[in-house]
Amino acid sequence: MVKIKFCGAAGTVTGSNYLVTTDTCSFVVDCGMFQGPDVEHLNLEPLSYDASKVDFVLLTHAHIDHSGMLPKLYVNGFRGPIFATNNSIRISTELLLDSAKIQELNFKTGVFYGKYTQLKAIVYNTKDAENTIMLFKPVDFEEEFSPANGVKIKYHIAGHILGAASIEVKIMDNGVEKSIFFSGDIGRKESHIIPSFDLDFKATPDYVLTESLYGGERHPEREDSVEEMVRIINETVERNGSVYIPCFAVQRTQELLNDFKRAKEKGTLAEELDVWLDSPLAQRVTRIYFSALDSTASNLFDFPGLHYIKKYKESQKISRKGGQVIMAGSGMADGGRIMEHLSFALENPKHSVVFVGFQAEGTLGRQLTEGEKEVTIGSKTLKVRAKIHHLKGFSAHGDSGDYIDWINRLRSDKLKKVFLIHAEPDRALAYQKELAEVGVTNTEIPTIQEELVLE
Ligand SMILES: [Zn+2]
Repeated sequence: MVKIKFCGAAGTVTGSNYLVTTDTCSFVVDCGMFQGPDVEHLNLEPLSYDASKVDFVLLTHAHIDHSGMLPKLYVNGFRGPIFATNNSIRISTELLLDSAKIQELNFKTGVFYGKYTQLKAIVYNTKDAENTIMLFKPVDFEEEFSPANGVKIKYHIAGHILGAASIEVKIMDNGVEKSIFFSGDIGRKESHIIPSFDLDFKATPDYVLTESLYGGERHPEREDSVEEMVRIINETVERNGSVYIPCFAVQRTQELLNDFKRAKEKGTLAEELDVWLDSPLAQRVTRIYFSALDSTASNLFDFPGLHYIKKYKESQKISRKGGQVIMAGSGMADGGRIMEHLSFALENPKHSVVFVGFQAEGTLGRQLTEGEKEVTIGSKTLKVRAKIHHLKGFSAHGDSGDYIDWINRLRSDKLKKVFLIHAEPDRALAYQKELAEVGVTNTEIPTIQEELVLE
């Protein structure tokens, strides 16, 4: 008998975690962090399964909502291999150590866990993260391997971020092979810096678990958002203001650097324009991108006027000049060096702040993009006079059109059920409707902690 339990990212976007149990073994796909006001406390609750009995883990990609609770498995006794692509291992290593450091710092200084709990707690420390990293085992795309008797696994390119995979699992169940396809996060069909999922790929799984985050939605064209960004930068610099971009460390930063480079080559951005990357984590991840992509890759992210800021003190100094672009973490302005920059910039109408991704509820990014006129950073109350922009074309996730192209490759008479995951309920319902319109009617929106037998 094969069973699947939806332990996270079911009826919600984050906390990706699925437990598969067969007659001979049990394994977990992803073990991500829950993020957001309604679910963050779940990180502190006990796992709903015995981690010490899990034989192995399959990681789709490095993003923290897919990898961020791997050390929690370790803390709870898991000692098996964690299979992931080489680039996912390298990026996860950075993200897990960063996450452990933040938890340790908050705990030491008496700050509550996360952003929404009222608990002084720590899920894992640096040592736990380091021990977890030791369990990683690299796998190659398109190379089948068998981590347990009767189980075959293959990783396929998903696009989305460097190293990201969709995972095909084949399990022998009483002499019959059953296959499950886990989408991970699905990228967009076009990307300037990493390969997208293969449109010509074909497989015939029995079950599919698919991301539905942007169900029923279509993103603006990416290049239109790039043009808009260039226009905002030029207008702001002309009035001697600066452009502040709260930035996600993985993929978004590298894509933007590539956009700026292309704009400078085209002459739409002035060659002498200074662009500062003020995020140590984004710098480390950019170096991983540099070395992971082919030999011309260094040219993808490098251009005249680009500077990496290392020390916090330097960061303070550059904020005070006008006529430049400053990229700093975090992407939702809920921590990191961008907070200092914003507390300086928000009250000055010369400056612009450009958000380039999803802004979760409860974040400063959400407040600003919703047009709040007064916000607080630390103990400071600030009148928002800077120009606030929210450009939605930069998403690293596919939209509904991409999802349908992705799933069309997996359709056959054999397909028994498509589970819609990684989405708020309204988006999952919207995607369910769209799928029905193209003839995929055997869909289900699982609930968290639901366990099903895969017939
Ligand atoms: Zn992701």
